[in-house]
Amino acid sequence: MRVYNSLIELVGDTPLVRLRKVAKGLAPTVLAKVEYFNPGGSVKDRIALSMVEDAEKKGLLKPGGTIVEPTSGNTGVGLAIVAAEKGYRCIFVCPDKVSNDKLAVLRAYGAEVVVCPTTVAPDHPDSYYSVSDRLAESTPDAWKPDQYTNPNNPQSHYESTGPELWEQTEGRITHFVAGIGTGGTISGAGRYLKEVSGGKVKVIGADPEGSVYSGGSGRPYLVEGVGEDIWPQTYDTEICDEVIAVSDKESFLMTRQLAKDESLLVGGSCGLAVAAALKVAATAAPDDVIVVLLPDGGRGYLGKIFNDEWMADYGFLSAETEEATAGQVL
Ligand code: PMP
Repeated sequence: MRVYNSLIELVGDTPLVRLRKVAKGLAPTVLAKVEYFNPGGSVKDRIALSMVEDAEKKGLLKPGGTIVEPTSGNTGVGLAIVAAEKGYRCIFVCPDKVSNDKLAVLRAYGAEVVVCPTTVAPDHPDSYYSVSDRLAESTPDAWKPDQYTNPNNPQSHYESTGPELWEQTEGRITHFVAGIGTGGTISGAGRYLKEVSGGKVKVIGADPEGSVYSGGSGRPYLVEGVGEDIWPQTYDTEICDEVIAVSDKESFLMTRQLAKDESLLVGGSCGLAVAAALKVAATAAPDDVIVVLLPDGGRGYLGKIFNDEWMADYGFLSAETEEATAGQVL
């Protein structure tokens, strides 16, 4: 029988899909690594599995122990799936700005969710950082993965994402483009690709305008999962050859185009990464192979990026795009 014994056997080995329509007119090959094929729906399943297995090996996470992490998104889902499989309890601490849908997803996977006020300073006892620290200290056999400092975050990409990209392209990859959040993906996969190619593969970060990686001060942006206002330990400053800043508007319009033109219903950080990849493709050689990583699926963003009213409220639908949409409705 062709069966998997557990969902976590399905983490990784995600497909590469050619971007034909959005890359039309550009000579290089542009391929997307589609991470929503992971069982939890995002690239973060990879780091969840590797952080948990390393903690087990080191005895930091004991049978029946509890995982405590301040997370509301993809990392929470990944950790919840791995925890359910391996019999750990999960407590996630989330700020109250997180949508009810996202909290419901975490609870559906069996996690406990503690909601904290967004408006207090990080050092306030009610902030989600303070609450998660307190919970980690007061809960017996608790372990905090901390994706922003945990070396298994980039390491999991060095061991899985990077080798997959090299094997899938039969060593023909010339450029790797990915958004930067914790920096785990680009630092780990990027380091592997540089090593295996003898420095030939160019690594390009995609960053929301305003974030520190592309020289910003950390000013707010709306794309989720990428950009920072601090430099996390998991980001290796030696790996990126270039970091391209992309606006919210460009990221979201490209995200919508990916759904319409390529049937890739993906999140906003995917639109951001593809916008950067197309800029790279515009100046690359015809036989170059550019791979862009798409971190998650788009169903979590239906009320925002795929909602015309929300887009219009922020001024992201230009007269031109609104006309095009109206045309399609008719
Ligand atoms: N996009 C989304 C939707 C994410 O959740 C993340 C993870 N924070 C990223 C991009 C960036 O990945 P990384 O943390 O590995 O830099």
